[in-house]
Amino acid sequence: MCGIVGYVGEKQALEVVVEGLRRLEYRGYDSAGVAVVTGDRLDVRKKAGKLANLESLLGEDPLEAATIGIGHTRWATHGGPTDVNAHPHVSEDGTVAVIHNGIIENFAELRDELTSAGVVLTSETDTEVVAHLLAAELPRCDGDLAEAMRRTCRQLEGAFTLVAVVADDVDVVVAARRNSPLVVGLGQGENFLASDVAAFVSHTREALELGQDQVVQISRDTVVITDFDGNPVEAKPFTVTWDAAAAEKGGYDLFMLKEIAEQPKAVADSLRGRVARDGRLHLDEMRLTDAELREIDKIVVVACGTAYHAGLVAKYAIEHWTRIPVDVELASEFRYRDPIVDDRTLTIAISQSGETMDTLMALRYAREQGSKALAICNTVGSTIPRECDAVLYTYAGPEIAVASTKAFLTQIVAAYLVGLYLAQVRGNMFGDEIRSVLTDLSDMPQAVDLTLDTSEGVQALARELVRTRPRCCSWDAMSATPWPSRAH
Ligand code: GLU
Repeated sequence: MCGIVGYVGEKQALEVVVEGLRRLEYRGYDSAGVAVVTGDRLDVRKKAGKLANLESLLGEDPLEAATIGIGHTRWATHGGPTDVNAHPHVSEDGTVAVIHNGIIENFAELRDELTSAGVVLTSETDTEVVAHLLAAELPRCDGDLAEAMRRTCRQLEGAFTLVAVVADDVDVVVAARRNSPLVVGLGQGENFLASDVAAFVSHTREALELGQDQVVQISRDTVVITDFDGNPVEAKPFTVTWDAAAAEKGGYDLFMLKEIAEQPKAVADSLRGRVARDGRLHLDEMRLTDAELREIDKIVVVACGTAYHAGLVAKYAIEHWTRIPVDVELASEFRYRDPIVDDRTLTIAISQSGETMDTLMALRYAREQGSKALAICNTVGSTIPRECDAVLYTYAGPEIAVASTKAFLTQIVAAYLVGLYLAQVRGNMFGDEIRSVLTDLSDMPQAVDLTLDTSEGVQALARELVRTRPRCCSWDAMSATPWPSRAH
């Protein structure tokens, strides 16, 4: 969900890649890493935390000689923000390194297959399976990385931008995309790959936009694009007209506008892979038994600000589907008013960051009274989900604007999923009914997209209406008159 950079050319790859990552920093991230090919080996460095942490691991001679490399800033979706979970991920034999943005929905099945074949996985991420799959495919296609990527992608479900390099090729970077962004930057004797143009706009403004389900292989002088079956495809060239500052905001004037535009993807990602093979809905982490959930007779949502408003929507959905009474409490008030909470209460803590202090304190208070706890959160590995019995993550990616948009919308989606999950466990709804609501929810990204498409028309209308004065009275009289109360 965060930053991806790939480079092959004549410059020091490390410098280009780290500079690219720095330009993508605005997106927010929890860890960072790079891989460069030096001679005939891969050198990988990665570290949790800010880029400065990673940089303290860099700067050694062999790395500086490399002219091909990849870099990643991570926003964890699977596995906490640790050094081990940071990207790149490397195959067991150390020959392939891969970085990934997005979510591999079927990673658990793939991991089980790899484990039965004797592969030892070292991280908790969904990404690592890709490194092992690529390494397994390479010998089957004479070491052709692009072909190995195509074969691997055909086994993957979900959303991904993947970029890989191999130890014995100092001239090829291969990438693939499905439901996640990837652009190619075209230079002279050098080429770039990135999740957005901000990463390379200081080097080149000529770019190619990749389509859905495509694989691209870049070398110094060539760019070859195919679909996942190997059929050649033409990519759409474009020239970046934004300056670096605008590029950071994806061409929007404000982060908030950019994040509003990201809502369809945020919703789609948050719904991704929620239904297991047996057709049942599941949460990300569940340490409560079905019996415990059946005993719940009251739900308390604790949250602050925007998340509190998502809680108000949660109340409607959960009460409607489960018939359990739901109270929505401002977290800052909760523990000062002697609320009725016991071991049959489920406290739902909603927090984008997972670190909202009042929400954390309310959660701890509820737990002290014996309450079960569930978190709805956008930050994997943060404190609030760590202290809960169950977690449902929203996959909105980092939100920079203070006014919440995509995080708020995904909190509502998550609240719906929690309601449906409880209804499933407690038998309030039939499987078919749940699936029908899920189908409606899966149409939501498109509906949001259509709504956003109307924004020009809405702006035109707003410009027209802003000057409109009520006929009945003058503007001065209006502003001096209190609003009449609504008739009931
Ligand atoms: N799902 C991957 C992980 O948790 C990638 C996250 C990202 O897009 O940064 O490592």
